[in-house]
Amino acid sequence: MRYLNIGARHPRVGVFDFTDCEGCQLQLANKEETLVAFLQAVEVVNFREIATDASDDYEIAFVEGAISRSDEVERLKKIRERAGVLVALGSCACFGGVNRMKNAFDLDEANAEVYGGTPKETLPVRSVKEVVPVDLEIPGCPVSKDEVERIVRHLVLEVPFSFHAYPVCVECKQRFTTCLMERGQLCLGLITRAGCEAPCPAGGLGCWGCRGPAEAPNYEEFFALAKERGFGEAEINERLGFFGGFEGIKVGEAR
Ligand code: SF4
Ligand code: SF4
Repeated sequence: MRYLNIGARHPRVGVFDFTDCEGCQLQLANKEETLVAFLQAVEVVNFREIATDASDDYEIAFVEGAISRSDEVERLKKIRERAGVLVALGSCACFGGVNRMKNAFDLDEANAEVYGGTPKETLPVRSVKEVVPVDLEIPGCPVSKDEVERIVRHLVLEVPFSFHAYPVCVECKQRFTTCLMERGQLCLGLITRAGCEAPCPAGGLGCWGCRGPAEAPNYEEFFALAKERGFGEAEINERLGFFGGFEGIKVGEAR
């Protein structure tokens, strides 16, 4: 990458996955129009999804996935020791993601139900920051490749990055999407951090909050608006609990 004809350094990068679907890594690998520029900006030394060579000599580690087994805890700690900068990539890594719903069940019972007489080790799901210190979190299920590219540029040039403080609603207005709440759907865009460019409402689906809370979300006003439109507490709480980003937030409970 060159800017004003000044060559930037190319940090060595590793990309690692834990309990997840690997969809965020795929986002990095599948946007072909910018893949060459991305690979010129960094030196990828460990990225199982796209390369067979694997080195432990990396400066920046992108960690995708939630942590749900003891071997994952040990592996993550080793990655943390080696990496100068550790970035949590995607909602699984940032919040536990959809995996976090597992924590609402008795794990022994669930294990027996799924695996019968051959139970598998499974711990309550944790986000990456609940296990090791994290330098930067990039939320999204999956992450937005455009946003990741912007953040990589900041990391390469060592310039701090700030996320939007405002909610997804603002991005709906920017792209002239009719409000889904006005069309009778429940939508978490009022309280969810922007940055995805609101693809779900634009496609006719209310936001499920995969990017977690915006800065200073007005929960009481959101709950009042949702109830006014006939949505019940169970439905609102189910939506809030889906990606793990609103952990501890429930309608009808004091904050
Ligand atoms: S955040 Fe979503 S897309 Fe990314 S790994 Fe988790 S489930 Fe997959
Ligand atoms: S609109 Fe909501 S659910 Fe859809 S990508 Fe954005 S934050 Fe995630």
